[in-house]
Amino acid sequence: MLRINDHFLELPGSYLFSEIARKVGAFKEEHPEAQLIRLGIGDVTRPLPEACIQAMHRAVDEMADSATFHGYGPERGYDFLIEAIIRNDFAPYGIEMDASEIFVSDGAKSDTGNIGDILHTDNRVCVTDPIYPVYIDSNVMAGRAGTLDKQGRWSRITYMPCTAENQFVPELPEQPVDLIYLCSPNNPTGTALTRKQLKRWVDYALEHDCLILFDAAYEAFIREEEVPHSIYEIEGARQCAIEFRSFSKTAGFTGVRCGYTVVPQDVCGRTRDGRREKLNPIWNRRQCTKFNGTSYITQRAAEAVYNPEGKQQVKATIDFYLENARIMREGLTEAGLTVYGGVNSPYLWLQTPQGVTSWEFFDRLLHQAHVVGTPGSGFGPSGEGYLRLTAFGNREDCIEAMKRIKNRI
Ligand code: PLP
Repeated sequence: MLRINDHFLELPGSYLFSEIARKVGAFKEEHPEAQLIRLGIGDVTRPLPEACIQAMHRAVDEMADSATFHGYGPERGYDFLIEAIIRNDFAPYGIEMDASEIFVSDGAKSDTGNIGDILHTDNRVCVTDPIYPVYIDSNVMAGRAGTLDKQGRWSRITYMPCTAENQFVPELPEQPVDLIYLCSPNNPTGTALTRKQLKRWVDYALEHDCLILFDAAYEAFIREEEVPHSIYEIEGARQCAIEFRSFSKTAGFTGVRCGYTVVPQDVCGRTRDGRREKLNPIWNRRQCTKFNGTSYITQRAAEAVYNPEGKQQVKATIDFYLENARIMREGLTEAGLTVYGGVNSPYLWLQTPQGVTSWEFFDRLLHQAHVVGTPGSGFGPSGEGYLRLTAFGNREDCIEAMKRIKNRI
């Protein structure tokens, strides 16, 4: 009889977004005239940069002619994109990177979810809390998480709370861990680690022989000087960190799909007999076996993000979202609320008023202001008492939502 991977059944249903949809649906039925403003989604709304559109059109024309047609490409990505990535995302920060260390993919969700394929199930996982749910769910599927308790914590996972009390900077773990997930700028809190704060984690990983999985999907939103754009700005990170990048929030590629993962040649793990082995060739083998490359058209579009027009257009879009975030921060503060994030990030992390849970505050916003957010408790136990708003909406909606929150909450 065929056996399934029982670990998939251990996962709780994805309650968060279905419950939001249910509550919003019920509200709309009761109040069909209400003009809802949705500030809960983590998806972009601005169109692709013109430079990317033009590059895609040219690539489509190439595909129409047998002389310039492209079939299967290199699984790891085309050299033209890998070279543009190294030249633009790393060289300006003084980071040297070899082409063999970059793996182009269809996005950071796949890579952060798949990286566990090459790591033993016995590894002890450490996550910051609240968290982008993929890190935990993919470890549950692999059988690394243990059992789920009533507070929503898995028994084999170490949670490092990030709350207002510690300025959203996680403490180092007290018990031994092997695999550490960090995300900066962070989804959902919208806060970012400084160079000094990240260095503590790199030093810890080097000292304890851990691997850091560093998710930099929101790198393009960094505006403050002390926030590093890549973990490889920190000395020693090449020995202990894998970095994930995405074009989704950088250039509006959520529907196009492109990202990349950096696996330095210096990063190693141990075999069952204690030998040190490089992770780079193992990830390469994994990708070449299970992934057939990102489409040529998509990679040409991603390359255009780095040409002079592309850079300017990307910056204009990110500036637009960050201006939304600024307006929202100001509006929420004027409304008497305590708000974090929104400076190096499109996310605003609101503290709910004293004694009000995440879901109660979600209901209050929905019913009194007709604004939809995302309850913080959906991102992990330490998200309780917070609510996430995103700055990806249009300007008028952001302004109107703030007006309503000020007047009605
Ligand atoms: N990492 C984080 C922290 C995210 O918030 C998201 C998307 O919301 C992703 C990764 C997924 O990125 P991609 O669209 O490249 O799969």
